[in-house]
Amino acid sequence: MTRVAALINQKGGVGKTTTAVNLAAGVAELGRRVLLIDLDPQAHSTLHLGVDPASVDRSVYDVLLEDPRETDPATAIVRTRERLGLLAAETDLAAIESELAGVPDRSTRLSRAIEPLKSEYEFIFVDCPPSLGLLTLNALAMVREVVVPMQAHYLALQGMGKLLETVTLIGRGVNPRLRVTGVVLCQHEETTKLSKEVVADMEAFFKGSREKDVPWKGARVMRPAIRRNVKLAECPSFGKTIFEYAPQCPGALDYLALARGFVEEWDRLLAKRADPGPADAAPEVVVKPGAAAESRR
Ligand code: ADP
Ligand code: MG
Repeated sequence: MTRVAALINQKGGVGKTTTAVNLAAGVAELGRRVLLIDLDPQAHSTLHLGVDPASVDRSVYDVLLEDPRETDPATAIVRTRERLGLLAAETDLAAIESELAGVPDRSTRLSRAIEPLKSEYEFIFVDCPPSLGLLTLNALAMVREVVVPMQAHYLALQGMGKLLETVTLIGRGVNPRLRVTGVVLCQHEETTKLSKEVVADMEAFFKGSREKDVPWKGARVMRPAIRRNVKLAECPSFGKTIFEYAPQCPGALDYLALARGFVEEWDRLLAKRADPGPADAAPEVVVKPGAAAESRR
């Protein structure tokens, strides 16, 4: 069983890449086997992990175009760290929309390619471009979960409508198991009045969806929020994860605590599955107040 999640928000600069890389690295730090798929033509995740997109032999671009029966997608994965594999991006990826135009299975090609690789990894994360175009549709068709990185600004919530609509469409079509896990608050300043109000609004929105038959019925504001921390903005230019660059900084502690919550929630769910309780329970709402403090020890 593999936990497969995409970091999606059609807005740029909200923290998708920072979260994809450091959540993936955090889960790997905790001893789990992780694959990160960089689906953004800007290749920021690839660069963040210190991999030069131009030097990559085969990228996710090739994997999307190849027939997995002829060319093994596993051989495109770059082993960047112990337990952390990368399916890299390259700038050619920007042309994929036109290259796959008219191809009937164009939105499920990633899903088809990755399916046989799942058994190799316990966690797969997908970093998406800032749009709801074909690349993001491929992510939505392959993952079970959508995680939405965002900042607690008033306008942040406006963009959610279009994203949730797209998730609903994919859920009614190729991927009925698709769920929104929740929101990760990035560059968070929890003491401002504005951010408190926006977080309260988000929580009220998700609470109001609990009884509805929608893919975000189990969604929540995930904890801990990731504090604004300049070290997180510095480390990509060194090709390092936050755990390599500044393992004691607030950004590292926050991402490690987020990763720990993510892993523990999954372990609990698998234990529940093994011991047949209520069928197919969605991940429970877990707010671990001590998580951030615990990781500081
Ligand atoms: P996206 O992938 O959604 O476009 P990024 O993850 O690239 O967003 O983040 C946008 C910018 O904000 C980057 O320069 C990144 O380093 C910076 N950033 C992200 N999260 C934080 C944070 N918690 N504190 C400080 N800077 C951050
Ligand atoms: Mg990005």
